[in-house]
Amino acid sequence: MKICHISSYSGQWDFDAVVVGSGPSGSVVANTLASKGKNVLVLEYGPLVSPGTLHSEHQKKFPKAFSHLNENNCDPWTACCVGGGMEFYDAITFRYRESDLKPSKYISSDMDMDWPISLTQLNPHYDWIEKKLNVSGTGSNPEFYKSSRAYLISEAMKNCDLRAKQMPLAIKSGQDGCNYCSACDERSCPTGAKASVISRSILNDKGLSGSITVLYGIFAENIEENIEGLIDSVNCIIPFSGRKISITTQKIILCCNAIQSAALLLRSKSSFSPDGIGNKNDLVGRGLMFKISGYSVGYFEKNVILDTPYFGPHATIFNDDFYVNSSIPSGLGGLIYEANFSTAADNIGKIRLHYIAGEESWSKNRIMLDSKFDGFGIPYIKFLYENSKMDMKRIEFLADISEKILLKAGAVRIEREPFTHAKGSSHLHGTLRAGVDPKKSVVDSGGKVHGYKNLYVMDGGVMNFSGNSNPTHTIMANARRMAFDLVDKEVSI
Ligand SMILES: Cc1cc2nc3c(=O)[nH]c(=O)nc-3n(C[C@H](O)[C@H](O)[C@H](O)COP(=O)(O)OP(=O)(O)OC[C@H]3O[C@@H](n4cnc5c(N)ncnc54)[C@H](O)[C@@H]3O)c2cc1C
Repeated sequence: MKICHISSYSGQWDFDAVVVGSGPSGSVVANTLASKGKNVLVLEYGPLVSPGTLHSEHQKKFPKAFSHLNENNCDPWTACCVGGGMEFYDAITFRYRESDLKPSKYISSDMDMDWPISLTQLNPHYDWIEKKLNVSGTGSNPEFYKSSRAYLISEAMKNCDLRAKQMPLAIKSGQDGCNYCSACDERSCPTGAKASVISRSILNDKGLSGSITVLYGIFAENIEENIEGLIDSVNCIIPFSGRKISITTQKIILCCNAIQSAALLLRSKSSFSPDGIGNKNDLVGRGLMFKISGYSVGYFEKNVILDTPYFGPHATIFNDDFYVNSSIPSGLGGLIYEANFSTAADNIGKIRLHYIAGEESWSKNRIMLDSKFDGFGIPYIKFLYENSKMDMKRIEFLADISEKILLKAGAVRIEREPFTHAKGSSHLHGTLRAGVDPKKSVVDSGGKVHGYKNLYVMDGGVMNFSGNSNPTHTIMANARRMAFDLVDKEVSI
């Protein structure tokens, strides 16, 4: 594996495939192809991150997107760096359930929300990832220790007739594990105890028969289609120098995240695709989904456990009693979990709970290109987005339950943080939907863009429903499934 800034690269350019984006999806795809002997180039816009960096600080320098109110205050990224959002993530590592892949039993919209694949197809890839990331409570990995405040929350849940469970975390515990150096929410891990694409050897896997070259500091601007249905190169800009380069490729796989992969296709106009590649049916960018989610904070007086700063993982327990439950509007809910603040001292005297569920996918919820351009001549992204009434009822239900738990725990005051759904999220899904019918989907179940021989999407864009829990485990498992599918279907890539 070679990993360097684009400006210091002097090697050859003859790769079997180019993957755009080095986040968990791109890294897993590169690893899978290289495990089959392929030489893969990964292009990454962001830099390497210094240990201990806070997500909000790191992201300040990257462009925002416009809202439907024309305000430039929406977030079109998880994170821009080698490793993508996983570099800062909270390592919450749930498998999806049947209801996440087939939500149409509970909710509906003007788009197909059921996935064109089954859990059975994801299971072997979940197994591989859990082993690779050392996910607590799976295989031979022990459960991660509950935080002291988690005991308080568990007791309060029990008093509300709810069951607290230990969080599956991609964080090592024990001797070579987490040393509780900070409140690690949204922070890049300085010790490697928390999983990243580097700390768990996904990009830098020594057992690969092929190779992975990661070049960072390069932004894929658009894709060239000189013969209809065939991609021949990706045009890039190096923000550092302003230089532009074109990279010829046999296969291109987009793993930029659900917003950026869609934007890249919309920017890729040719005489065959005047509205953007893959967009003949005006579907690219539509069906944007985040999560309906929110936080409630309970304030406590004179509680010994809560009187000191908190060091450790963001969350160590959760409740899933309302994942599928007839008492919640629609019958489909999600999770409630401990959600500590990212600064140790901010947790003094407080317990914060997070509630999260997947949302309906509507075609009017979309990203598109704005008429304004940034300093490199790249059009800004614009979000058109609003929550459905049913989704608001579902999230209000989970918020009310969370607040009951906080009161049972002894909170003297509760604040519900305002919902900020329309401004983006770190959970990005939809926009490049998967299915058989090109009139209703952008890619097939293997991630291949309909009508294209050598263009693929393998990130959260292909998810037809966002799912009711944290998505990265599933994004990675699905990416690995699609990458194997690609190699299996092709004699040579
Ligand atoms: C603070 C935080 C906490 C989180 N916690 C959790 C959690 O506990 N559990 C969980 O399941 N999920 C969590 N997530 C979400 C998780 O990070 C994402 O689901 C995951 O990173 C998505 O993976 P991806 O590879 O599809 O996209 P990304 O991780 O977004 O990676 C895409 C990469 O592509 C690059 N890129 C984009 N466009 C271009 C372009 N045109 N040219 C070149 N490069 C480009 C980006 O810079 C980025 O590095 C969290 C996210 C954040 C930010």
